[in-house]
Amino acid sequence: MTGRRTPDRIPPTAHDIPLSAVSESALRIVEELNQAGYEAYLVGGCVRDLLLGKRPKDFDIATDALPEQVRSLFRNCRLIGRRFRLAHVRFGRDVVEVATFRAVPDEESDFDDDKMRISAEGQVTRDNVYGNIEQDAERRDFTINALYFDPRDETVIDYVNGVADLTRKQLVTIGDPLERFREDPVRMLRAVRFAAKLGFGMHEETEGAMRELASLLHHVPPARMLDEVLKLFHSGHAVETMDMLRDAGLFRHLFPFTEQCLIEVGPNIATLALANTDQRIREGKPVIPAYLFASMLWEPLRADTEKLVETGMQQREAHATATNDLLRDQSQYVSIPRRLAVVIKEIWSLQSRLERRQPRTISGILKHKRFRAAYDFLLLRVETSEVAWDLVDWWTKIQDCSPSDQQKMIKALAVPARSGRRRRRRRHAA
Ligand code: ATP
Ligand code: MG
Repeated sequence: MTGRRTPDRIPPTAHDIPLSAVSESALRIVEELNQAGYEAYLVGGCVRDLLLGKRPKDFDIATDALPEQVRSLFRNCRLIGRRFRLAHVRFGRDVVEVATFRAVPDEESDFDDDKMRISAEGQVTRDNVYGNIEQDAERRDFTINALYFDPRDETVIDYVNGVADLTRKQLVTIGDPLERFREDPVRMLRAVRFAAKLGFGMHEETEGAMRELASLLHHVPPARMLDEVLKLFHSGHAVETMDMLRDAGLFRHLFPFTEQCLIEVGPNIATLALANTDQRIREGKPVIPAYLFASMLWEPLRADTEKLVETGMQQREAHATATNDLLRDQSQYVSIPRRLAVVIKEIWSLQSRLERRQPRTISGILKHKRFRAAYDFLLLRVETSEVAWDLVDWWTKIQDCSPSDQQKMIKALAVPARSGRRRRRRRHAA
């Protein structure tokens, strides 16, 4: 860590952050902390995005007040997190994260007190040693994420040359990337997320470090991996993200079975689904985690089912067995909580019902909670030529017609086409 040094201070005349773009709740919280005698700044992604003229997803605050001191200051405040303890302050509909300045531990006593914990692989599993703003900047992941904004004089405070890297469009780790990725392997995923989202380049050394340490992702708890995976693929830049993850050798540690299919069969429904998800996000439409998993794992599911059928198992049983085994194996890498698994299974099992179109099941399918998601999924399968266009057309039409027309469409299914023709012919003859 560098010693005390003077940061660059960028005055309001030299940057374009309008105070009006900052969340009022965040401003109020900073102000109250200041009034109580604490230092407090906006920090991280929000300052980065504001400098880039983008709208921040959320506003984070860093302060020298300890978590308990933050809690005693705000009525609607909850302390959360064990690995990284911080305060959630609720203001109206916003929840703002308020974190106490962190420092690199240098005293053995920090470990003895259990403020800091490091696993055998060098991973920091507890990071609660507090410090000052300069130390806090050094603990952050990338230079562009370590900028502070002081609303009182509207200056940006830069200890790590983050503003220069923003201008150069470079993602640079603070310190040695090997060391920083070892401390927290999730930083590798974060690097890809920011590079893809912002269209930034990655330092050669950073990329090399990723390739070297990719397998450390196995030591990250699957629940944390799920959070990161959703951020990666629901960012609106899922296609670039996937390409970058594969290039860096990270993807196979997230979705190994999908990667295997991509290698063996090439681009498939997973690739199409990501493009589709990006499009939906651009249009402001909702996206659901289950859809991501359903499409990522569809090819592996088909392959596994086929293998079981080849051993003599009935199709239905093979599908059920392959589904359960695959979800179990995948969740070793990225957690799939039960409520998520239920929806994934529904989307999958609706596929064969949509294909079979058994007349007495149609109205039930149309009313099914997951019909929309399953139908969207069917649309993807048309694009890979797995199902025929006229099947999808039929499901498209029946959603939009009146109940009586729906009944007609269902009845038409009940009468096999050939006998229908015969009957008509007879009528004509009469
Ligand atoms: P987003 O746009 O996704 O919110 P963000 O940069 O704000 O991006 P957050 O996860 O909200 O990301 O984290 C806020 C800040 O906390 C980051 O900008 C970074 O400075 C710091 N940070 C978050 N996670 C880590 C980490 N794993 N290691 C080091 N610093 C981190
Ligand atoms: Mg953020």
